[in-house]
Amino acid sequence: MFDNLSQKLDKAFKTLKGQGRITEINVATTAKEIRKALIDADVNYKVAKSVTDDIKEIALGREVLISVSPGQLLVKITHEELTKLMGGEKQEISLKGDPSVILIAGLQGSGKTTFSGKLAAYIKKQNRNVLLVACDVYRPAAIDQLKVLGEQVGVEVYTEPDNKKPVEISKNAIEYAKKNNKKVVIIDTAGRLAIDEQMMNEIAEVKKAIQPSETLFVVDSMTGQDAVNTAKAFNDRINFDGVVLTKLDGDTRGGAAISIRAVVEKPIKFISTGEKMDALDVFYPERMASRILGMGDVVSLVERAQQVFDEEETKKLNQKLRKNQFNFEDFLNQIQQIKKMGSIKDLVGMIPGMGKMMKDLPIDDDAFKPIEAIIFSMTKEERENPDLLSGNRRNRIAKGSGTSIQQVNNLLKQFEDMRKMMKSMNKMQGKGIPPNMKN
Ligand code: GDP
Repeated sequence: MFDNLSQKLDKAFKTLKGQGRITEINVATTAKEIRKALIDADVNYKVAKSVTDDIKEIALGREVLISVSPGQLLVKITHEELTKLMGGEKQEISLKGDPSVILIAGLQGSGKTTFSGKLAAYIKKQNRNVLLVACDVYRPAAIDQLKVLGEQVGVEVYTEPDNKKPVEISKNAIEYAKKNNKKVVIIDTAGRLAIDEQMMNEIAEVKKAIQPSETLFVVDSMTGQDAVNTAKAFNDRINFDGVVLTKLDGDTRGGAAISIRAVVEKPIKFISTGEKMDALDVFYPERMASRILGMGDVVSLVERAQQVFDEEETKKLNQKLRKNQFNFEDFLNQIQQIKKMGSIKDLVGMIPGMGKMMKDLPIDDDAFKPIEAIIFSMTKEERENPDLLSGNRRNRIAKGSGTSIQQVNNLLKQFEDMRKMMKSMNKMQGKGIPPNMKN
């Protein structure tokens, strides 16, 4: 996410390297580089200018402490200003009313339907009874798509395939929700490839008729300034409450994320980082600023882990590790859990400094494939008792998984090393921390 921008900003701060203090001249050079980086990232020009003017002014006015270098100070000020620019505090969606109604709007292909499914899953996790409503009366495929997503996340989908009137469908859906004890209704509307009058009228009419407690505008972040302009056009017409930025996993520039709030004056509320139903995050301006500046985002990483890993299961696993009973079945399980947390590249970017360190390495989600194939080719007994894996069996596994005998041996060796490490850690824990390791 935003790799190009992070690298360019890093370069901008390096112009201050070796400088003992902040001066008009050196801070102006850095501010100019920051501005260039932002404009290259497709940040609106006016926004880029105003934020870098602010950064410069604040830097000149702030006394440099002895312990902080001018470069570090500039990173800190930029972090503060980017956070402010993106809205400061996180903004919740409003779930007022019984049922509360959320209207989803946006262009076709922006990721509206996918987001509707994700939002339904997100709200369902808070133990609220959700109803999804398919209101795209032009594309029957969109109705089917929502049904599939609804099934995936276990949320009922309301449809009226023969009705071509979105206002009617929405009203009927809300009535249905009232009768069936649904507490939140999410309405996925029809999009078009570009802004057109009929679409705007249609959404405005639905909004007027059903008075949603929250209207969210979904936009593809990869379209940069176009995303900002489309958001502005929609907002002028339907006055939405918040923005959902999608496809951030493919966005290396970040212009929309940075400027949309300043231009449209509406907060970003969610970000979507993949096609899977759990690739959804609440938007925190401060954490996003950290990620843009390559400072990582450990808080979000931990939150994602908490969503994916079950506490009881983790406890059991810990016990197994302690008793050195961890086997390939558990290993496979762990890989599958990690994959649920999102794309590996994205996860690496959340660890401070890691994104920068690993930017040239080919990290992709296929990295787990050979490992999984090898484990899948083992029998149940072999997975539970890796000591059974003789030369013959290893050969069979290599053939079965389409890997080489070296790959199988490597995996077994790594697994063995891991078990040894666990064993020595357990011993250490038994004896307490050695005195030379205490601080
Ligand atoms: P709609 O026409 O606005 O309802 O858009 P869809 O929900 O059908 O999404 C269009 C395409 O974008 C689909 O192929 C989705 O799988 C994909 N998509 C949606 N959100 C994301 C995302 O956050 N990341 C990625 N990589 N793809 C996404």
